[in-house]
Amino acid sequence: MNSKSKKRSPIVLIASISALLIVAICGAVYYKYVVVEDPIAQQENSEEQPATELDSKDEQTTEPDSTDEQSDPHQASTSDKAEQPTSSTQTEKPDTSTNEPKDQVELLNGYVVGQQPATEPTYVNGILIVNKKNPLPPTYNKGEDPKAKAAFEKMAAAAKNEGFELVPFSGFRSYEYQTTLYDRYVNRDGKDAADRYSARPGYSEHQSGLAFDIGEKGREDLWLTSAFGESPAGKWLVENAHKYGFILRYPEGKEDVTGFMYESWHFRYLEGDTAAKVYEAGVTLEEYLGV
Ligand SMILES: [Zn+2]
Repeated sequence: MNSKSKKRSPIVLIASISALLIVAICGAVYYKYVVVEDPIAQQENSEEQPATELDSKDEQTTEPDSTDEQSDPHQASTSDKAEQPTSSTQTEKPDTSTNEPKDQVELLNGYVVGQQPATEPTYVNGILIVNKKNPLPPTYNKGEDPKAKAAFEKMAAAAKNEGFELVPFSGFRSYEYQTTLYDRYVNRDGKDAADRYSARPGYSEHQSGLAFDIGEKGREDLWLTSAFGESPAGKWLVENAHKYGFILRYPEGKEDVTGFMYESWHFRYLEGDTAAKVYEAGVTLEEYLGV
């Protein structure tokens, strides 16, 4: 019994496998040429040109198989690949490689490594720009800008009418004073931390005489804190400073652009209607000037 069944079983197996193969091949051929092609073509059409509701209903009623074919990703992906070679992937790659050399300047905490002291201040469209990439010469020592001071007084008077007494607790700083200040912060918090909130000598906007750190009298506890920005006085400044020529210089979430963390207290004076334009645009000074 055992030997007979062992001899017969391979024959039965081969026969049944052959029968299955024939059925499978026939099925595949039928599937490919009769069932698959039309629904796939319809699928592609519906993706490229959004079909109206009437169109899609017509497809479903005339060919009920179409819903099954939607779950066949292989057919769809091969037809997608056939369309891809004409796309412009080759032309896009050289563009990105040509952009790379721009980033070859080595930066550390936003500063250009090995940069020599500036010999002249940087103006863009007539506007003095002072940041981590555009320092002032050590000899730039004009003191507090009279126009900026007058603008602050005007703004402070308007704020007083609203019930806030604004105090410009830090204005012009000389190169030498900024050196003392920065060194003190580095000794206290380390260079990396200090570079986020205090400028190195030559790189402080305070040296321009156009910047003020502003607080509210009676709320000294909020000076130099981000909480000042949440206080009524801080909010009033954010919404109204541009009317007097000032912008919030280091807004929240813009550290990668300005080089400094959010400073709710630091305002920069800009002549004419520039502050209003920067405010209306909702951008930083760097973005406004395109630097
Ligand atoms: Zn400041």
